Amino acid sequence: MKQELEILLPPEVAFDEFARYEAILRQAGLRPGEADFVHLLRRSIDARGRQPLVRLRAEVYRGAPPRELFGPWFQYPSVAGARRTVLIVGAGPAGLFAALRCIELGLKPIVLERGKDVRARRRDLAAINKEQTVDPDSNYCFGEGGAGTYSDGKLYTRATKRGDVGRVLRRLVQHGATPDILVDAHPHIGTNKLPDVVRALREAIAEAGGEVRFGARVTDFILENNQLRGVVLADGAALTADATVLATGHSARDIYELLHRRGVLIEAKPFALGVRVEHPQELIDRAQYRRPERGLLPAASYALVQQTEVQGRQRGVFSFCMCPGGFIVPAATAPGEVVVNGMSPSRRDSRFANSGIVAAVELEDLDVAQHGALAGLRFQQALEQRACQAAGSTQRAPAQLLGDFLKNKPSAQLLETSYQPGLVSVRMDDVLGAPLAERLRQGFTSFGRKIPGYATNAAQIVGVESRTSAPVRIPRDQHTLQHPVVQGLFPCGEGAGYAGGIVSAAMDGERVAEAIAAQW
Ligand code: FAD
Repeated sequence: MKQELEILLPPEVAFDEFARYEAILRQAGLRPGEADFVHLLRRSIDARGRQPLVRLRAEVYRGAPPRELFGPWFQYPSVAGARRTVLIVGAGPAGLFAALRCIELGLKPIVLERGKDVRARRRDLAAINKEQTVDPDSNYCFGEGGAGTYSDGKLYTRATKRGDVGRVLRRLVQHGATPDILVDAHPHIGTNKLPDVVRALREAIAEAGGEVRFGARVTDFILENNQLRGVVLADGAALTADATVLATGHSARDIYELLHRRGVLIEAKPFALGVRVEHPQELIDRAQYRRPERGLLPAASYALVQQTEVQGRQRGVFSFCMCPGGFIVPAATAPGEVVVNGMSPSRRDSRFANSGIVAAVELEDLDVAQHGALAGLRFQQALEQRACQAAGSTQRAPAQLLGDFLKNKPSAQLLETSYQPGLVSVRMDDVLGAPLAERLRQGFTSFGRKIPGYATNAAQIVGVESRTSAPVRIPRDQHTLQHPVVQGLFPCGEGAGYAGGIVSAAMDGERVAEAIAAQW
């Protein structure tokens, strides 16, 4: 027999396994020992009242619970001798999940990844932080697991209609992620745990007879009469297949340039950019939980949005990829540019809270007449190069105290930061340009009214947060998911404009694999 219930508990009870078990049984009208299994379905923090509480939804079983609660949920048949091969360019969430779904559908995936495996990649990240050198094939965006590996590993998505979120989460759990992600309203894995999960996904592909090749940068397409026959790698090797999944992420500028050069239809697309703001985590905890210490509660987060108007144009300014208890990281993919992003460990226990604060960029804000489909990319690139030059042409990032930025006055001194390459005090207006700076000022001013202490010199802004989503869309037919002109080309994931985060990219990978299988 199964009973489902919802209960609100103080954190001291909710995060203590035995106290929680007793409280749930009490609510179910049972005594300890009278239930065979308590299964948590959902856990969220309710901070609206005077005291923050933890809201739990649970199932109480009397008698054995069904076996499918515990997995394993996925089995991968051998595709070593499969008749059909799919080339998958990019080993980010889209590419890896496309590969696993291909295997389930009897297709052999060959994943081509320009970067290195997670272990070797770590050394290149250390070099960015310590020696200020960026390897264009191995960095925070490129390498095994894609941009999602050294990230916060936040796993919530608003794109719930675009695929099976639960299936993505269960697959991650089967390959080593904490089962908490199946329960938490805002699940995350953490940058310390993600590399092992990513490695396990790759091992599952290889064990089933698929392939994952590192150091395999695609530099050209084999195109014949609007049919994509395969790809050419940097070392000159040519690989052919009837289907090629292009899952190269939003930072593969050379791929956008290649598509443009080879005359493959692509389009400029709206995106967003701005800065990353860093606060003491304590300040955010106090404001969100309304008590001096957060105790057992997780590091508090926020989501903010404000409509702004500059030069008669209305644009949203919003928080993006907020990382409680995290670090700001250097996410450039080439020397000569500075790009910031955020990540956090599973315990979210750093002293800093950071978040992207970005403004929407629409096509009318871009010089489409001059740059065509690459207009957004050029806009991003120019901003990133200005950021780099303003801070001394290394990976040090330009920064300004937030209160000073609001008054447009230079900061004599900056605060301590989690950004390892270091900060340089700069008037951020000089980097962002007046219209974007003004938009962000309007946004920050409004956020300061929502969170006490937010828009003050207790915080600093760091630039630039420019890789929020792809500035280009690679079109595809909505049914076949194939490029409308080039047969055999399946644009996929964030880089093609069909995802915005780890889960939505993974779901898109699965969808594309299903679309390919359906056509064969
Ligand atoms: P990507 O992950 O970008 O993968 C593309 C892959 O293609 C890369 O590995 C790249 O090396 C490879 N590639 C590119 N060009 C070539 C080529 N020519 N040949 C061969 N391979 C190539 N999202 C969240 O949902 N939650 C988060 O907490 C989060 N935090 C983030 C933190 C950071 C620091 C960053 C950078 C991103 C974060 N994101 C987060 C965004 C998330 O990582 C992306 O949305 C997601 O990874 C997109 O998946 P994808 O597979 O489409 O592309």
